[in-house]
Amino acid sequence: MSRDILGHITCPHCQNESATVHRQAKGSRALYYRCYDGKNGDCGTVQIILKGGQEWIKANMRPLAAGEVEIIAQEAAEVAKEQAVKAAAVAAKKLPENKAEQANKKSSMFSKFFEDSHA
Ligand SMILES: [Zn+2]
Repeated sequence: MSRDILGHITCPHCQNESATVHRQAKGSRALYYRCYDGKNGDCGTVQIILKGGQEWIKANMRPLAAGEVEIIAQEAAEVAKEQAVKAAAVAAKKLPENKAEQANKKSSMFSKFFEDSHA
């Protein structure tokens, strides 16, 4: 079992602020927390592995740098990728159209000028 500390969380049972957040090394790889040395003694290893429990841990944990990277990077990467794809699509639409329009206007103005003056 991995004991890497991803962050700290305030234990909801005893208000111990230094309960530690970990990720299961196997299986669901769910987040859980360990509360030892609380004011009432040890609460122990607390596993709330379903969606609501996981959301509570993510919302309340104070991540260490490494834990923050692991947990937030995936979500941030997906959002950033979406935004980059959208921005690239917008840029790809705008630039060629504008240049093509300008080129068309210039050539039509010149050709009209020469056609008129020749007559
Ligand atoms: Zn506790």
